[in-house]
Amino acid sequence: MNKAVLLIAVACCTGRLHAQDTQRIHASALVIDTHNDVLYQSVMRGKDIGKRINTGHTDLPRIKEGGIDVQVFAVWCNEKYGKGTAFAYANKQIDGLMQVIQNNPAEIALAKTTTDIRIITGQGKIAAVIGVEGGHMIEGRIDYLDSLFARGARYLTLTWNNSTEWATSATDESRNAKKLKHQGLTDFGRLVIRRMNELGMMVDLSHVGRQTFFDVIKTTSKPVLVSHSNAYALMAHPRNLQDDQIKAVAENGGVICLNFYSGFLDPMHYTKINRLYDKYVSVDDSVKRSSDGKFRRLPPAAKEQLRPPLPLLLDHIDYMVKTAGIDHVGIGSDFDGISSTPIGLDDCSDFPNLTAGLLQRGYTESEVRKILGENVLRVMAAQVN
Ligand SMILES: [Zn+2]
Repeated sequence: MNKAVLLIAVACCTGRLHAQDTQRIHASALVIDTHNDVLYQSVMRGKDIGKRINTGHTDLPRIKEGGIDVQVFAVWCNEKYGKGTAFAYANKQIDGLMQVIQNNPAEIALAKTTTDIRIITGQGKIAAVIGVEGGHMIEGRIDYLDSLFARGARYLTLTWNNSTEWATSATDESRNAKKLKHQGLTDFGRLVIRRMNELGMMVDLSHVGRQTFFDVIKTTSKPVLVSHSNAYALMAHPRNLQDDQIKAVAENGGVICLNFYSGFLDPMHYTKINRLYDKYVSVDDSVKRSSDGKFRRLPPAAKEQLRPPLPLLLDHIDYMVKTAGIDHVGIGSDFDGISSTPIGLDDCSDFPNLTAGLLQRGYTESEVRKILGENVLRVMAAQVN
């Protein structure tokens, strides 16, 4: 056999082994996705996610296909919900999830503890975890926080894009700082953190501003979660974490879970949008610009061109691993909360492509297992110690 033929033979062989490895590792690993918006996106709109639906990123059959063992379902509403409505709406979404669970008892069960997760996934079911995204849903009341915890909520994202009276968001701290009455956590905000620590509820720092972020790091006695954010050094967006924040999570023992949104991954995202808008506006009447001059809508063909390659997500993971260490990185897809994802991650059934990408980058099996779920499980377990 000459040298060229030998090389091809070796390449083919490792290629085959690789595919088998990917399958085996992905299937046997505990895969946790710390953020998915299907409750708001589909369940609250009356769709039955127990069956395959042909819209959105998520339903139970596709979660299974994607090998996702633990799915955190985000309970979310925007700032239009406030005192008297936000908490009720959060409960309505939890009702929606409970209905999904009741209708599909062989497929999915609610997990409140890491022991529940082990038992449920051991039965081959999806472990459903509740995460509440937006501190405005507790309406400034500790008893509402307690109540959401009692129903199963295991994290609270302190803010969404809107600040609360007790914690300021990344959006407001970076874009509306002058309008804010305070920045960071107030005394009540610190009370919320201490209560969450007592309850064993993860403090989620996605969406919060830098001041809130570091106030929490100083206050919390437990490891924090960043459920769906990326690296600011690779994409300078206020929703992403700067190096000092990444290092602070590592020191705290927490975990940062990477988001699949093109707009948080790709530094060219907004330039691409503007270029595509200019290209399509003259030929497609459906392309509109809203009254404030911002982009509103692009046709599907243009949207496809916005999608970055999967390796860009892997670059963000590499960067997090390099900066925080392998024990502090996880996955929080944000599926059904985002309008554009990397090529190869069309919906939640594509999770194995991520594992394949990590193995191709040279991560070992044990490192891949940490990123896919073990790190998040450790942080969840640490809440009750
Ligand atoms: Zn979010």
